[in-house]
Amino acid sequence: MTATVKEIIQSHQWHNLSVSKVAQYLDANLDTGLTSNQVAKRQESFGANELKGKQGSSPIVRFLLQFNQPLLYILLIAGAIKALIGQWVNAWVIWGVTLINAIIGFVQESKAESAIAALASSVQTNATIFRNGQKVQVPSKELVPGDLVLLTSGDKVPADLRLIQSRNLQVNESALTGESVAIEKNTEPVDADAVLAERSNMAYAGSFVTFGTGKGIVVAIGEATETGRISQLMEQGTSLKTPLTRKFDKFSRTLLYIILGIAALTFAVGLGYGNSWAGMFEAAVAFAVSAIPEGLPAVVTVTLAIGVSRMAKRHAIVRKLPAVETLGGATVICSDKTGTLTENQMTVQAIYAGGEYYTVTGTGYIPGGEILFDEQPVDWHSSPVLAECLQAGLLCNDSHLEQKEGEWQVIGDPTEGALIVVANKVGLTSNNLEAEMPRLDVIPFESEFQYMATLHEGGSGENSTKVRTIYVKGSVEAIVQRCQQMLDAGGNLVSVDAQTLHQEVEAMAHQGLRVLAFARKSVSISQDSLDHADIDKDLVFLGLQGMIDPPRAEAIAAVAACQNAGIQVKMITGDHAATAQAIAQRMGFNQNGEVLAFTGAQLAQMSQTQLATAIEDGAVFARVAPEQKLRLVEALQSKGEVVAMTGDGVNDAPALRQADIGIAMGGAGTEVAKEAADMILTDDNFASIEAAVEEGRTVYRNLLKAIAFILPVNGGESMTILISVLLARELPILSLQVLWLNMVNSIAMTVPLAFEPKSPRVMQLPPRSPREPLLSKSLVKRIFTISIFNWILIFGVFEWIKQSTGNIDLARTMAIQALVSGRIVYLLSISQLGIAAINFLRGVRQKLSDISAIAIGIVTTIILQIIFSQWNLMNQLFATAPLNLTQWLTCLLVGLPMIPVALIVNKFDPLD
Ligand code: ADP
Ligand code: MG
Repeated sequence: MTATVKEIIQSHQWHNLSVSKVAQYLDANLDTGLTSNQVAKRQESFGANELKGKQGSSPIVRFLLQFNQPLLYILLIAGAIKALIGQWVNAWVIWGVTLINAIIGFVQESKAESAIAALASSVQTNATIFRNGQKVQVPSKELVPGDLVLLTSGDKVPADLRLIQSRNLQVNESALTGESVAIEKNTEPVDADAVLAERSNMAYAGSFVTFGTGKGIVVAIGEATETGRISQLMEQGTSLKTPLTRKFDKFSRTLLYIILGIAALTFAVGLGYGNSWAGMFEAAVAFAVSAIPEGLPAVVTVTLAIGVSRMAKRHAIVRKLPAVETLGGATVICSDKTGTLTENQMTVQAIYAGGEYYTVTGTGYIPGGEILFDEQPVDWHSSPVLAECLQAGLLCNDSHLEQKEGEWQVIGDPTEGALIVVANKVGLTSNNLEAEMPRLDVIPFESEFQYMATLHEGGSGENSTKVRTIYVKGSVEAIVQRCQQMLDAGGNLVSVDAQTLHQEVEAMAHQGLRVLAFARKSVSISQDSLDHADIDKDLVFLGLQGMIDPPRAEAIAAVAACQNAGIQVKMITGDHAATAQAIAQRMGFNQNGEVLAFTGAQLAQMSQTQLATAIEDGAVFARVAPEQKLRLVEALQSKGEVVAMTGDGVNDAPALRQADIGIAMGGAGTEVAKEAADMILTDDNFASIEAAVEEGRTVYRNLLKAIAFILPVNGGESMTILISVLLARELPILSLQVLWLNMVNSIAMTVPLAFEPKSPRVMQLPPRSPREPLLSKSLVKRIFTISIFNWILIFGVFEWIKQSTGNIDLARTMAIQALVSGRIVYLLSISQLGIAAINFLRGVRQKLSDISAIAIGIVTTIILQIIFSQWNLMNQLFATAPLNLTQWLTCLLVGLPMIPVALIVNKFDPLD
């Protein structure tokens, strides 16, 4: 390329050039696209079309932020005061533990963040382009300047494009310009100094096509795009914040003030009893440290991150972390029918043309099979009307079949694939037809119009040499109202018999067939483009084709699982009501016998309150326009439901955003939908939604378990310290020892809870109420009960050993070891391992899933505790004393009464 191109690239003036100049500068062919050779060279010199992504805050900053927690301030200050009064060992241990805690937190958080970020970016975007004269799909990052890109509504513009063709093209550029209304595009050059928002012949990377179609030449990729140039302004990093973690933050802040207040009180009361300043300072610090659940933030992060990766393994990619939590609480799932609940493997099984009814044999996209009339095979020569109906299906079609690894696949829309297959069954193929009747223009299928139309050279109309033909296919409602005439068996024009047609459609739909109607219109030779107005009326009806789309077997099971779990499933579809109803019936949507269905037209007439009732009662919502989905979500939410909603089109974005969990299809979904969604299904399968709900519920359960596990230790410790001070007794546990328990010991024991496998009962319980507080009444009772027991352990063992041996260090050490022994029992009682063991004793066998994390946690804990009391360095640092075997056994035995306590608590507040 020449220097002028460099200058133009640098000046970003492509909008000022004519299309031919742009093509010339970029050495691009406007019909066939670049050649493989050109692409290879350009990829080498321009690199990949991707944004490096701004680095989040630096690791050092993120590490220092670990100290930005109220608890850590307290610890750092406590350490400093200890140093001031000369207790250097104490000071260093406090700082050391704080540092270790920060390192663990930092590592966990970085790991979680990068895992989530990697998942989010693993969803790759593709672009449809012309290369070597062929239309191909490539990953957007392989684009080079000069590539010829096709845009359709729903696409994310993959690079900066100079448009060379535009058909009603509208692009939303809000990411770049802040303007939220989509901009109409054209191809005319604009002033050199036009600002970004006024360059109407450009489509910029990162914006979205909201309407129409277009074609453009890539003029800039990657960092050189306008988005790349402003990307420094954009926030990149993934946030680990969710509603739950925010609740935690608030909770711990409130807790902190209470704790500080009580600590101050402790200090004052102690002094009042005539204790020393240093002693009371120790008590106040010990209280503060004991009352704060230090290990909790780390566990929450890890649990959420594990939830994300488990969901990913089950084909659900979480884009926004809060979804992990919300999913577990979902009460309603609104799902698309086609492709999500069904296989999206269409096969035409029935045809109605020229007043005759045909059946079709063969399954899937395999070429074999026949069209039968009266159980006799027919061929297209003998049935001209059937032939034209099939021909319309072949020509008004943007898909094709391909054989991959021996299997026939549709490239494009399965609905259209089925039309090709059925025509092939009588020997009609698109190859000859496309040469005979080349396509001049097209209106692509869009859900809101429910039809597609193509304009062709020639045709079988009246004066067939002098005509062009429009073929239209679409929903029965969209097509039949535009037809005045139809063809009879002999191919003669007669007026449309709406009554009979209606009966035929109902008959097909009741079998669960998806019905498409076909029509044609002959137009004059002067017409060379196609508009919606052209097919408003005067179409000639050609026939109906009914295709089966079998339900996914795993989706049937998943629907049942959801209903079992108290989650309502609703089908929301653009398809015909009777078809949708038949499929829903077959999939077991009917709990009370009948599947209640509403159509979009009915919904449109309802008031918001009527709508709310309808959506509660109905299970199928058919012929629903995308805009109506938003109303449905809002109506459900007004009833207090937590709504998960799927979507794939451009116009689904508002509903996806409004839903508590917006779910986009990874395969069939448009980029617009994916961008708006909280979660993406990589396999477009309803069963994956159910799986994600299951994982979401497990995450929530595991968080509850972590809370139920950590807080009673804080409770027991702080009660101990408070009561000892009030009774003017020696502290049974020192601040450093509390630190050990709350940080080292707690992390070793609680992090495994994040890895807990799901309970066998996970989908047997109703969803948790959205209004349920984090600390429910029963959870508070549980925490309180276990706290008391912990207090008895620490206080009791300490007083007992102190009085029997007079050795304070030993008494403290044994109190701690007894507490840990009780803790191990308690941990087991709330883990799947322990629950399975209890069930085993009751005679209920259950399959044990992965319990290794808990086992590792317990073994680690035991080793750490042995080091804690047996190693003399630890004795010096933490003022502990080594135990002999009898003493160890004593501690162990003293912890065992936790078994009945835990069993009773579990009975009233089951956590599995
Ligand atoms: P869904 O995906 O929920 O079944 P769509 O909005 O995709 O609904 O389709 C609505 C209706 O539009 C279908 O019932 C069918 O009649 C018609 N239709 C679907 N796909 C096409 C297509 N490619 N060309 C023409 N009409 C179509
Ligand atoms: Mg569809």
